[in-house]
Amino acid sequence: MINLRSNKTVRVAQADWDDWRWQQRHSITDLQELQRRLTMPVATVAEIEKVNTRYPFSVSPYYLSLARQPSLTDPILRQCLPAAGELQSFPGESADPFAELKKSPVPGLIRRYRDRALLTTNGLCPVLCRHCFRKRGWKYHLTDAAHPANLERIITYLNKTPEIREVLVSGGEPLMLEDEILARLLSRLRRVPSIEVIRIATRLPATLPQRITPELVRMIATYGPIWIVAHFNHPLELTDAGIQACNQIVEAGIPMVSQTVLLQSVNDNEAVLRQLFTRLLSMRIKPYYLFHCDPATGTMHFRVTPERGRKLIRKLRATTSGLAIPTYAADRLDAPSKIPLG
Ligand SMILES: *Cc1c(COP(=O)(O)O)cnc(C)c1O
Ligand code: SF4
Repeated sequence: MINLRSNKTVRVAQADWDDWRWQQRHSITDLQELQRRLTMPVATVAEIEKVNTRYPFSVSPYYLSLARQPSLTDPILRQCLPAAGELQSFPGESADPFAELKKSPVPGLIRRYRDRALLTTNGLCPVLCRHCFRKRGWKYHLTDAAHPANLERIITYLNKTPEIREVLVSGGEPLMLEDEILARLLSRLRRVPSIEVIRIATRLPATLPQRITPELVRMIATYGPIWIVAHFNHPLELTDAGIQACNQIVEAGIPMVSQTVLLQSVNDNEAVLRQLFTRLLSMRIKPYYLFHCDPATGTMHFRVTPERGRKLIRKLRATTSGLAIPTYAADRLDAPSKIPLG
């Protein structure tokens, strides 16, 4: 079986490939391994090496296999391989663009909006997305809410703050927690009387759909109402495995929406976005937000102008179902909510 559709192929047993722990163990995190899988121009290798000292890279064999071209212009590789642009910084950018570190009343909980709070639970993203606005924290403070002592403080805070009625379980990657640890977190949240809705934000349906096991889905469904927010940026991410993972979730009665980040040379294209959003809709997943790429340091090469984003949305409106159109929005420091740009 050929698993890597790049020009160097690796043969792996199907059972291993379908096992998320195998995928995690075989995450590609060093340049030598990457070069074994992918033939790249020397210039690209040097670029990756340099950026890697500041921002590490990690990619699951599964996600790497979605790439079509061994080049940084491939929409999959562009999202997961370091690029020189990450070492540049521009006015208006910041390592912590939304001052999350200051808006954390207890470790692991970020509160920027009145009625909802966000928990950072786990830094183990199987794919480190180059556009991530939390890339500053990959190595450290994304894991806080999973620590038992912190969880106690978070639950105490939520019990004392009844205006918070929704908790977003985020990361990093919350679904990389072991089932029991996630179950403990969800059951503790469920017992806070003022918490009406739990939202789990995950990129795994795109980057490691093997993790969405029947046991995990069953467990999550017991703590409903829970909404799952996936993060899909390109139709190449909607594979059979990804579709099957989402199907399981939806069939278990867990509603799903999806967020997309508008990324230059990845998805800033009418046909690509239309395909992504209409396919999501067929999967019973409502496209929720199209985010303007956040002003995190080292992400300028991904940003397009708001005018371009608006134009893309206008074109989509003229050609497809309103249900398939997400809200184009930006996140702004100190705003009371996400800001629609449409
Ligand atoms: C984006 C975000 C939310 C959720 O905002 P919605 O508009 O409800 O999706 C909540 N808390 C934080 C800290 C966020 O960044
Ligand atoms: S999965 Fe989310 S938190 Fe993790 S690197 Fe990607 S965008 Fe960042």
